[in-house]
Amino acid sequence: MTRVEAQMRSTMQDVPLSIASIVRYGTTVHGSSEVVTSTGDGVRRATFADVGRRAAQLANALRGLGVTGDQRVGTFMWNNQEHLEAYLAVPAMGAVLHTLNVRLFPDQLAYIIDHAEDVVVLADGSALPLLAKVLAQCPSVRHVVVNGAADISVLDGLDLLVHAWEDLIADQPDTFDWVEVDEHDAAAMCYTSGTTGNPKGVAYSHRSIYLHSMQVCMGDGFTLNARDTVLVVVPMFHAMAWGLPYAAMMVGTSMVMPDRFLTPEPLAQLIESQRPTIAGAVPTIWTALLAHLDAQPSDVSSLRNVVVGGSACPPALMKAFEERHGLHIIHAWGMTETSPLGSVCQLPRGVDGEEAWPYRITQGRLTCAVQHRLVGPDGSFVPHDGTSVGELQVRGPWVTASYYHDDDPEKFHDGWLRTGDVGSISADGFLTLTDRSKDVIKSGGEWISSVELENALMAHPAVAEASVVGVPDERWGERPLASVVVREGETVDVEQLRAFLAERVASWQLPERWAFIDEVPKTSVGKFDKKVLRKRYADGALAVQTMAGPGGSG
Ligand code: ADP
Repeated sequence: MTRVEAQMRSTMQDVPLSIASIVRYGTTVHGSSEVVTSTGDGVRRATFADVGRRAAQLANALRGLGVTGDQRVGTFMWNNQEHLEAYLAVPAMGAVLHTLNVRLFPDQLAYIIDHAEDVVVLADGSALPLLAKVLAQCPSVRHVVVNGAADISVLDGLDLLVHAWEDLIADQPDTFDWVEVDEHDAAAMCYTSGTTGNPKGVAYSHRSIYLHSMQVCMGDGFTLNARDTVLVVVPMFHAMAWGLPYAAMMVGTSMVMPDRFLTPEPLAQLIESQRPTIAGAVPTIWTALLAHLDAQPSDVSSLRNVVVGGSACPPALMKAFEERHGLHIIHAWGMTETSPLGSVCQLPRGVDGEEAWPYRITQGRLTCAVQHRLVGPDGSFVPHDGTSVGELQVRGPWVTASYYHDDDPEKFHDGWLRTGDVGSISADGFLTLTDRSKDVIKSGGEWISSVELENALMAHPAVAEASVVGVPDERWGERPLASVVVREGETVDVEQLRAFLAERVASWQLPERWAFIDEVPKTSVGKFDKKVLRKRYADGALAVQTMAGPGGSG
């Protein structure tokens, strides 16, 4: 695109896009919308107006602890009302919210707290023992504020002050003069596992969060509005819960928060009792919920849109939910680096019923603000013709341009983010991801999509989960290893699975190495952990059955 030199300036007001304006609006205009938090055996409720008052009290309390300017306030919390209060209070007071993953390995956790220089950590009492393990390595942390019941003796001996959340805010004023910011200032940050080395920090601006929240609400986003209730299963410590909390505040969508009760039974009960209309979570959560609902049906009919993303959603899962439980799954793609919403699969005009499936199994259309291109291995641009494959690169107002105080030149090229995701884009903009570049199986001169094999395997009625990774092979360089979890009460053998696959993929792609496992290992955010499977194979820790490979290689 060319730039015009002396361009006429607009007459528009220059009003910063800020979290403070979302807080002011959401907690007043939509003051009667609610946030409902699971307590395991019931729920507790608060209105957005209550949350606004408590967020102001929290902001006053944090000021009292000395939080000023752009200091980082960490949260080590599940999805609950207090976490939402922190989401509002911290950026709106001008500080930076840093969401910490409660399932991270201690070393990584210590690294990111230290790297971001968090001065205060707000922590759920139930998560305190893990946090306590790492705080000795985090000298920047001066205060820990504990939410709910906790054994605070786990913090004994640490050089910091410990406060009970409710005591800390009790006597604070319930209004706060939310801070005027430069919209480009950081509002929140989140670390991603990164491709190599240490976790990498992404700092979202007030502007990027504001614009992203609008996209989340849009009709070709997650379609949030004031008559909806959204069940926020995707953790608030993972890619800002896909932007759902700020988006919900923006339009008055009530929120249902599962707290730490994420197993299928309490989730199904929460859906039945609180009747959310929209929900968002990674495929593994829905896979577990599907098995539960099949065995113990409950009323999930309130859900009109179930957004699934974070890793490829198996088409078999979508179909099973639709056919057996009447639930409509919407596939979406994103990354921590893209705030995260990049693409959403809303159907084009005139497409319905059976005709919709070829669209629905794609990752959907990239949104208007997320410019995109596909780049081939030789650096040339790949046409958007629905078949040519390349690496997806993106740029846009809610796509990060770098990592916080870190360098990863591999990830950024010419002002574009290299997503590391490989796929095709159709002429009408639908993205189909075939793999992550690090997971593509390079067999001879050809590429095998691990995702395609997984999706095909998971369509078998006896298969609960399946993960496919490339493993070294003398003749072909790499070949697929399929690790399969068999559904309870079912039996199936390798020959049957190979025959099933043979009807769906080219014969040279059929895995010859197979392992039956109890569970696919998962990352801290519930994705298939292929690193662990590769390592188990390398260590000889998998009981592998080997069949003849293509051209007779074994
Ligand atoms: P991590 O690298 O720790 O998984 P992210 O949560 O930021 O961190 O993951 C982003 C990645 O997740 C994307 O680059 C992509 O590989 C994968 N992903 C997200 N959504 C989808 C989807 N709908 N289909 C396939 N892959 C997806």
